[in-house]
This record gives sequence, C-alpha cells and structure tokens, in this order.
Amino acid sequence: MHLVTGGAGFIGSHLVDSLVGIGEKVRILDNFSSGKAEFLSHHQGSDSVEIIRADLLDREAVESTMEGVTTVHHMAANPDIRLGTEVTDTDLNQGTVATYNVLEAMRISGVRRISFASSSVVYGEANLMPTPEDYGPLLPISLYGASKLASEALITAWAGTFGAQGYIHRFANIVGPRGTHGVIFDFIHKLKRDPTRLEVLGDGRQEKSYLSARDCVRSMMHLIENSHEEINLHNLGTGDTCSVSRIAEIVVEESGLQGVSIEFTGGERGWAGDVPKSYLDVSKLLSTGFVPEGGSEDAIRATAKALISEIGL
Ligand code: NAD
Repeated sequence: MHLVTGGAGFIGSHLVDSLVGIGEKVRILDNFSSGKAEFLSHHQGSDSVEIIRADLLDREAVESTMEGVTTVHHMAANPDIRLGTEVTDTDLNQGTVATYNVLEAMRISGVRRISFASSSVVYGEANLMPTPEDYGPLLPISLYGASKLASEALITAWAGTFGAQGYIHRFANIVGPRGTHGVIFDFIHKLKRDPTRLEVLGDGRQEKSYLSARDCVRSMMHLIENSHEEINLHNLGTGDTCSVSRIAEIVVEESGLQGVSIEFTGGERGWAGDVPKSYLDVSKLLSTGFVPEGGSEDAIRATAKALISEIGL
C-alpha cells in the first residue's frame, strides 16, 4: 500500500494514476486546500484508491493513515512560493512541520520508506550551472526553499537516527495537465482577462528547466525501483532551459490569439525570492538508466495546449 500525501494535487494525482496503472493500491491523504476532487474522479468506486480528507498538521490523523503502508510519497505542501513574501509561517507549517508529522507518524507505525517532493530552490542562487546534487553551500532565498531544505534535513536525520530510507527528489519546474499554478497557468488566466496584452513579471530573461508531470512521475518511480541507498538524492529535470519570454510566445501561439502585445514589468526577477536562473544537472538521474520523453519546450507547449483546453480562453 502506498500513501500519497497531496494525492489530490497536480503532481500527486498524476502519481496516483501511475501507481494504480501498475496495479498498486493507493491511499491518499489530502486536505484539498489546493487539490481538487475532480483530479481523482476517474478513480471513484475503484478498489485501488482510498481517499482520506485530513490535514497533515493533525498528527493523530496522519498516524491513522499509516496502517499497511510500505512507502509514503510526501507530495503535500504549500505550492505557492510567492506567498512567503506576505505570510511568513505558511511554509514553516505546511512544509517543515508537516514533514516532521509525516516522519514521526512513520516512525511510530514502523513505515520505513519516504519519497519526498523537494525542489531546485534549495540551491538558492547557485553560481554553478547546471547545478549538481553535491553543490553547496545550500542557501535558499525563499521561505518555501527554506522549508524544503529543512524537510530534506529531517528526512536524513530520521534515516540516520531511526533507519528510514529516503528518496529526495529535487524537482525543476513541473508542468502539465491539471496544473493549478505557475507561469503557464498565470499567462493563460491573464490572456483570459485581457486577450490584447500579456504582462510578464520581470524582464522575461529568467531561465529555468521545465519537466513534464509525466516525466516527473516516471522518474520518481524509476528511482524508487532502481536506486537502493539509504538516502537517494536526485535532481529531476530536463537537460535544457527555457526563458520566460519564450514561454510567453509559446502560450500566445497556442492560444491562437492575434496581435497580443507582450509587456515586461522589468527587473531580473519576477518577485522577491524568485531565482532568475535555475538549471539542474540531471546526469545522476540519467546514469540510472532513466530516459526522459521530452525537453522543456515540448513540456511547455503540451502544457499550454492542455491548460488552454481545461481553463478555456
Ligand atoms: P499542489 O498544490 O497541486 O499539490 C499539493 C497538494 O497538497 C494539494 O492537493 C493540497 O490540497 C495538499 N495539501 C497542502 N497542504 C496540506 C496539508 N496541510 N494537509 C494535507 N494536504 C495538504 O502542488 P504540486 O505542484 O502538485 O506540488 C506537489 C509537490 O511538489 C509539493 O510538495 C511542491 O512543493 C513540490 N514541487 C512542485 C513543483 C512544481 O513545479 N509544481 C516544483 C518543485 C517542487
């Protein structure tokens, strides 16, 4: 039995689909704060999926979901990095404390394996690109990044002290159908409000890797299958990057709208705490035999198509 925290969310629901697809049983723990019941509606009535509506900050509730579980896929967190510029304890609670609660419930119940959705933002403003897993010191510049780094440290501490096994996946930007946040989602909503212009935060030269949710889930499952250390730490991304101005062009192309003026607010970053350039070294992932299905532009174009049809213009 797999427990997926945040299984009603964007990436979590794709992971649930893949686990069910290979015949596994899945229990989902989600408070539906950003997750959606419709992302799981196709599993309604299935014997393979059990949904528990609960909050990770409720320790007793978390403990009660551990029975029979072999692997916890800890995907739940506040997904909005920008929120930390206004509310300073969200990432502390929904990130760090929530991860502590998951690990503690695992320890008490004897569950040994955790697979964790970390992020490239733990590297902060790295001066080595592409950035390998052993880059340091790790100096995140967002509150969200701090909570991811703290969660990684809790996982290695639980492994070192209680013998748990950890998979720490440092995700690039993940995009795909069911996306509920992020640059492509924001651009489509802006075009829906005003089809004549598209405002881009920053100078458009911010450059990052964009991995499809499908490749993200495929690589997580591949690593659990093929990597057997006590701590298995990997960057999950593509071997390329794409600029925000190119994303704006792709979204406008896919929208079919004519004469859209793309306007930049200026400045090297979109908001305080935004890392302007992020490019992960994925050679460690590739050395395990993982073969990605596509690069950043493929993922962005496919996501723009999918979200335009989900959201409508
Ligand atoms: P998401 O918001 O779609 O998914 C998060 C899920 O967690 C939601 O279903 C939400 O309802 C649930 N949740 C949040 N707080 C909870 C709580 N206290 N108790 C129970 N459930 C709770 O976001 P996502 O993009 O699918 O992200 C999944 C994970 O991947 C997160 O940990 C996120 O930080 C990480 N991540 C995402 C990206 C990305 O580009 N999307 C990049 C790096 C890391």
